[in-house]
Amino acid sequence: MTICIDIGGSTSRLGFSNNKRKFDKIIRFTTFDNFQDQINRIIFEIKSQSLDISKINIAAAGSLDKKKGIFIKWGQKKLWRGQNIFQPLFQAFPKTSFLLENDANVAALGEAVYGAGRNYSLVGYLTLSSGIGGCLIINKKITPHHFGIEPAHQIINFYETKVWSCGQRGCFESYASGTAFKQIFGITAEECDDKNIWKAYSKLVAVGLANLIVLWSPEIMVIGGGVANKFEQFISPLKLELKKLLPIFNTPLILKSKLNDAGLYGWFAFK
Ligand SMILES: [Zn+2]
Repeated sequence: MTICIDIGGSTSRLGFSNNKRKFDKIIRFTTFDNFQDQINRIIFEIKSQSLDISKINIAAAGSLDKKKGIFIKWGQKKLWRGQNIFQPLFQAFPKTSFLLENDANVAALGEAVYGAGRNYSLVGYLTLSSGIGGCLIINKKITPHHFGIEPAHQIINFYETKVWSCGQRGCFESYASGTAFKQIFGITAEECDDKNIWKAYSKLVAVGLANLIVLWSPEIMVIGGGVANKFEQFISPLKLELKKLLPIFNTPLILKSKLNDAGLYGWFAFK
């Protein structure tokens, strides 16, 4: 059995699969702030299935040492800094092999292979959640990279003086993430139905998205994450803003993500 784990800033998911084509069971829980609590819960959930486990694939946010299984830095979970996720899981499941990958990369692959991007070869993916992530998928593969693909940390305001949780100033994430939405507009994206707020928000998203479009040149951009549940509220103003920012290009198709658990399904296409 293969276990796929998706550790997001707010929600964690565990998928159990026998055939690497579908999940027999998916368990979701709120991600813990304390790293040890998170590990204990993962081990508990796996052991309570009492299965013969051959592989554990972990998708997680933040800056990762994928070979060693270490969370180098994650703005949303400061206490996780330097923690190794392979060690405690290996102790609990010694006959198992482990993989660690950036959660947005896995979700992007999921959407590109099984979701909204399945009919395209150049699929850009952007997740607007408590944080921001994203990746370009070329011919159903994650774009090769050296230190990570981090659209959240592109600087979109050169003049910003306030330092964001990541340690930089003026990052896309500090304007367009769900966390930023709450800080800027005083309401969560989930609760917001105010057209003017969504218009103002779409202006912020458009700047980072326009940069991704000119750098990635995708056929389509898929928007995922919790904020994408409100896709219909901001897609029209977002398209207008993109046209204003990029009048010399035909901007690509922009679609809402299709999979609820892209960060799990992406593992089925992972090579
Ligand atoms: Zn940043």
